[in-house]
Amino acid sequence: MTTVPPVSDVTVSLGEDYPDIREAVRRLCRPFDGQYWQRLEENGKYPDEFVKALTESGFLAVLIPEEYGGAGLPLRAASVILEEIHASGGNAAACHAQMYTMGTVLRHGSAAQKAEYLPRIASGELRLQAFGVTEPTTGSDTTQLKTRAVRDGDSYVINGQKVWTSRALYSDLMLLLARTTPADQVARRTDGLSVFLVDMREARGRGLDIRPLKAMVNHNTTEIYFDNLRIPASSLIGEEGKGFRFILDSMNAERALVASECLGDARWFIDTATRYVSERVVFGRPIGANQGVQFPIARAYAEMKAAEMVLRKACAMFDAGLPCGEEANMAKLLTSEASWHAAEACLQAHGGFGFATEYNVERKWRETRIYQVAPISTNLILAFLGEHVLGMPRSY
Ligand SMILES: Cc1cc2nc3c(=O)[nH]c(=O)nc-3n(C[C@H](O)[C@H](O)[C@H](O)COP(=O)(O)OP(=O)(O)OC[C@H]3O[C@@H](n4cnc5c(N)ncnc54)[C@H](O)[C@@H]3O)c2cc1C
Repeated sequence: MTTVPPVSDVTVSLGEDYPDIREAVRRLCRPFDGQYWQRLEENGKYPDEFVKALTESGFLAVLIPEEYGGAGLPLRAASVILEEIHASGGNAAACHAQMYTMGTVLRHGSAAQKAEYLPRIASGELRLQAFGVTEPTTGSDTTQLKTRAVRDGDSYVINGQKVWTSRALYSDLMLLLARTTPADQVARRTDGLSVFLVDMREARGRGLDIRPLKAMVNHNTTEIYFDNLRIPASSLIGEEGKGFRFILDSMNAERALVASECLGDARWFIDTATRYVSERVVFGRPIGANQGVQFPIARAYAEMKAAEMVLRKACAMFDAGLPCGEEANMAKLLTSEASWHAAEACLQAHGGFGFATEYNVERKWRETRIYQVAPISTNLILAFLGEHVLGMPRSY
């Protein structure tokens, strides 16, 4: 039996967590400056060089235990890495998924699956960047997803469609959520869903079709069509029909890691705005001397610091093996709003120059806005808090 510590034993670091890692990430990000990200967007490219540097440094594998070739560090460390990438003006969305999708394999995969995949993911030989959950006709109503996986001898046969599957064209493996028992035959709507680790290298052209969905820079999203795709039964992760529960803990990690990116964005906006308003002189004095310019930045700073504490607690609880749905969801909610308010303050403070590509403000402003929609929208977090935390009546 595992014993979990009481909540009062969870320590939240008040100082700067992992200063050495922060410094190393800042150093790694230095060559990938604003112009690098601008060029990618102009040419519709994937940040190959940045992802390669991050992989070779081992930062993408920090959550993989040492016995499988990773660094075996806690979520707190992964959080710091993503925060620093975003605070440096970069964006980790092109590769962050590997950090949390791997968790489903680690916690629920068989010994054989872990031995086969984790060391190769840790070394960068295999990329697990795609997470196929969202579908065009069911959206946020995940348990109603329609992609079916039907057992046939030693295989599963998959039919259906996913949308917004980011990075599928830059990944070897995909973590796929599909229905194995029809929705009208299960006791609870979260039952009957299963998780599969699909080897896309073998599947493409044999029932798996990936089509790019032109959208935001660094997300490299796609639509995925499954047409009688046959995958080995050994691709199933954990017990059939229990998949929804298996991805929930990955989702808590995802919420906390995305919140870390929001925190980094907020820091970038506040630093950039503070510098600009202290230097830009209009009407004979720095615009930052005007409280109408200064106060939104100061307010965004206060919001960011408060959100950071909730995020640190979410990570500490996750690392202690405690249920952290409430904290992870609140961290995502609060940091995404703090980063958006910081983005608005920064853009407004730059006046017309905020829209000039070379300042990077409008790019970061667009990038940070997504976090109020994906990977989970603000309304759905509020519905979770209202129903599951506060016990109010179910809304959907
Ligand atoms: C760039 C990008 C990358 C993405 N990457 C991935 C990925 O890699 N893998 C993946 O599986 N998905 C991915 N997604 C999908 C993302 O998770 C969904 O877009 C998100 O969960 C919202 O779902 P939806 O777009 O279907 O919106 P809908 O579910 O259609 O909702 C639309 C709006 O209605 C609101 N709404 C819906 N129902 C309710 C309700 N009951 N009460 C109150 N408000 C409600 C929502 O809050 C939202 O604002 C990505 C999306 C984007 C834009």
